[in-house]
Amino acid sequence: MAALTDLTLTETVKGLRTGEFSSMELTQAYLERIDQLEPKLHAFISLTPDKALAQAKAADKRLKSAGDKQLPPLLGLPIAVKDVLSVEGIRATSGSRILENFIPPFSATAVQRLLDAGVVILGKTNTDEFAMGSSTENSAFGTTHNPWNLERVPGGSSGGSAAAVAARLAPVALGTDTGGSVRQPASFCGVTGFKPTYGRISRYGLIAYGSSLDSVGALGRSAQDLAELFSIMAGFDKLDATSMDLPVPDMHLNADVDIKGLRVGVPEEYFIKGIQTEVEEAVRAAVSELENLGAQVRQVSLPHTEYAVPVYYIIAPAEASANLARFDGVRYGLRVESEDIIDMFKETRGSGFGSEVKRRIMLGTYALSAGYYDAYYGQAQKVRALIKRDFEQAFEQVDVIAAPVAPTTAFTIGEHSGDPLSMYLEDVFTLPANLAGIPGIAFPVGFDSDNLPIGMQLMGSHFQEETLFRAAHAYQSASDWHTKAPAVG
Ligand code: GLN
Repeated sequence: MAALTDLTLTETVKGLRTGEFSSMELTQAYLERIDQLEPKLHAFISLTPDKALAQAKAADKRLKSAGDKQLPPLLGLPIAVKDVLSVEGIRATSGSRILENFIPPFSATAVQRLLDAGVVILGKTNTDEFAMGSSTENSAFGTTHNPWNLERVPGGSSGGSAAAVAARLAPVALGTDTGGSVRQPASFCGVTGFKPTYGRISRYGLIAYGSSLDSVGALGRSAQDLAELFSIMAGFDKLDATSMDLPVPDMHLNADVDIKGLRVGVPEEYFIKGIQTEVEEAVRAAVSELENLGAQVRQVSLPHTEYAVPVYYIIAPAEASANLARFDGVRYGLRVESEDIIDMFKETRGSGFGSEVKRRIMLGTYALSAGYYDAYYGQAQKVRALIKRDFEQAFEQVDVIAAPVAPTTAFTIGEHSGDPLSMYLEDVFTLPANLAGIPGIAFPVGFDSDNLPIGMQLMGSHFQEETLFRAAHAYQSASDWHTKAPAVG
């Protein structure tokens, strides 16, 4: 029999239901694997074995009680949660010293819905500080290593979640995506990751970065697994003012999903100079595979793509500068005592925030300041509308858009960390979906000559997540890239 930690979410839930193994055995198997591999990977900021075992024990009790007919759908399933999402009673650092000892008194809605569905929480995964980054190198708690090659970054900012899923430290993990932070690490670590439409999954309890861009997503081993999580997490929440009150499809994907006639658009602007040849080849081959499965492929144009990086790197820091104003030594987290209150603010923020966060607070404050607002923030908002319109026009012709997730496979730790601009340019293909608020799913479609995973993303029209899950699932039913595991440990 395969090791328990090799099972997918779907297989795990089935095994728990049929009594093949208990949640205790399963949780212990994950905790042992974490013990063994965590020193190499550093995927977690906090581990919560005692709580996990207590949750597993309670789950087993319910699983065994014959009278409990209406068992919650994920009862006994272990998961990992990115450390920017609040879980009641478990430290949430957001990868920052300023929140090093912050214990949220409530759980994020997305987390609460999963807890209500019966999950067991193994721990909180590593992230760039306040989710600002593309490599997990900006975490105040050390860098996560890519399980495919320990000298490479796992991507970011949900790099801990991606590494954990790839290395089988958890069957699924929650992430967040403000500009690619679920899709890009999924791609770098060879796992599947989705970001929903803005407004689809509540942001309540997500420690805010860029509020008009932030979304809660998940990483896992297949589109099928993620569709289950999506159905549970999505839906209206009165605690998030931007949450949409729309019906959520209850998706249980099976092997014979048919994508005959699905119109797939390939945007010419995503195959630019500088893209790694092997990435382009693998993505084009995956598009051909979709065509073999019955899809109709055509070229589309998203002419404002090149402005996504400058637009995002004005809007996201601007929103961040406002969101992070609350970390002042009074309300949350760290306080550095000082003679007067202004010095207390300065010293708390000066020692609590890392350099990338400070850079963005300064950029954002500048972009919003009187005299510069129109030239930067105002202008960026106008161009953001053009990027959104590009997608609207493309989705008049096609159902999904297929593109690379990142121009390269996982880069080496340290390669971009001294040069913020070169790091920001890594995000060129993921930022547009956030600026437009549309959903996306990233999944593995091959490997490069260094045996590093290559990802492709499908983007869809607002609230058309089901189409994305179905297309990715059809691809995964006909291929096996998503089943490959790194030989770590
Ligand atoms: N890499 C992007 C940034 O640094 C996106 C991060 C994210 O999606 N949270 O802001």
